[in-house]
Amino acid sequence: MNPLATLPAVSRLLSEPEILALSERHGLAVITRLIRETLAEARAAARDGAPVPETARLIEQIDARASALARPRLRPVFNLTGTVLHTNLGRAPLPEEAIEALVTAARQPCALEYALEDGRRGDRDALVEELLCELTGAEAATVVNNNAAAVFLLLNTLAPKKQVIVSRGELIEIGGAFRIPDIMTRAGARLVEVGTTNRTHLKDFSTAIGPRTAMLMKVHASNYAIQGFTKAVPERELAGLAHAHDLPFVVDLGSGTLVDLERWGLPHEPTPRESLAAGADLVSFSGDKLLGGPQAGLLVGRRDLIAAIKANPLKRALRVGKITLAALEAVLRLYRDPDRLAERLTTLRYLTRPTAEIQAVAERLFPTLHAALAPLDLSLEIVPLRSQIGSGSLPVDRLPSAGFAIRAPDRKTGRLHRLEAAWRALPRPVIGRIEDDALRLDLRCLAPEDEAEFAAQLAGTDWLEAVPC
Ligand SMILES: *Cc1c(COP(=O)(O)O)cnc(C)c1O
Repeated sequence: MNPLATLPAVSRLLSEPEILALSERHGLAVITRLIRETLAEARAAARDGAPVPETARLIEQIDARASALARPRLRPVFNLTGTVLHTNLGRAPLPEEAIEALVTAARQPCALEYALEDGRRGDRDALVEELLCELTGAEAATVVNNNAAAVFLLLNTLAPKKQVIVSRGELIEIGGAFRIPDIMTRAGARLVEVGTTNRTHLKDFSTAIGPRTAMLMKVHASNYAIQGFTKAVPERELAGLAHAHDLPFVVDLGSGTLVDLERWGLPHEPTPRESLAAGADLVSFSGDKLLGGPQAGLLVGRRDLIAAIKANPLKRALRVGKITLAALEAVLRLYRDPDRLAERLTTLRYLTRPTAEIQAVAERLFPTLHAALAPLDLSLEIVPLRSQIGSGSLPVDRLPSAGFAIRAPDRKTGRLHRLEAAWRALPRPVIGRIEDDALRLDLRCLAPEDEAEFAAQLAGTDWLEAVPC
């Protein structure tokens, strides 16, 4: 008899109790599709000489596939990379206040563009404009999808077919192919580079100003530092020069925190308030970097310039939705009470987490991790580490932290890479960093409420099979 004849028909499988239960959970359409796929593969394998699987085995396969399909692709992970604002891991985790606000906005109709005073059409920017002005000293503000969009929109509005003068030392590339010169071109502006990589003087700017100049621009060198024999022109002088020629002076700040981080012993990061006070007419910054909010691009500054930007039809294409605005409003509100900011704003809480507290997390987790790694002949050590702020903020500063270093005997990193891969495949993936022949786990961003889940996952043994000794 043809062995393939023993494979059950689709309709037979559909009447199996386990399959009925799966259809109940995942939907009949998905399960029927998976039955067809699984049977087709079994048939193809059998033709190549593989044994024909039992019905129970087929059901197991269908179950596993259905679970895999049902698992969200955008999954929470443990960020133990040591980079607090990790762009590829979603940057700033939101504070509870923002999460509550966005859930409410998602669930119910809300007055997004509706003036409740008179029942007329409102302006969505108005939801956060007052707060942004209060926190930065600006006259007006607007919000778009991210800071790249903010820079694009301001150039497209204020400098189409005109020249924008920027120091050569600031023609930066930010991860993911955001390059200032490319954005300028796409926005229709002409870039005029002045100065040299390490030094730019005021007279470099003044000699470049001509009839086609639209603005002077400063781009905060957020993801690198030029050190040594350097000179950049202070914002106040650039603003003075621009204004003497009746031109706007614009600053792309990148990260843009709204408070003085030195208050918490962190290195100084320029704020939009400082740029505006120094004479900038417009400042752009991200919502999800040091600000600690949702992905957004914020533009603050002169009322007439903001009005022009809002009148650009591209604003509509770059605007943010209610969920973003709800979260942003809640985060900005936290800044009204700087005394409690470090407790309430998740990003700042991580950045200011005392090293002793991180060390204590390592000591609590050590026994679990040690037991988990015991069968693998890998060594585990609690080590001092240095976290980065990330997302181009304060690139040269490191925060003293603590965590684990896992090493293989003879510094063979193959097994470490397999361990790293196995941990990436966990239900909640653990993301560390291999450096100097060690897999390092920085515990700064392991929230106290997540410690138990982290330990339970590693105490399980399923992942061990993926790391053969
Ligand atoms: C991060 C950054 C950007 C891009 O901001 P996104 O919010 O990621 O779009 C632009 N300019 C500077 C200086 C930055 O640091």
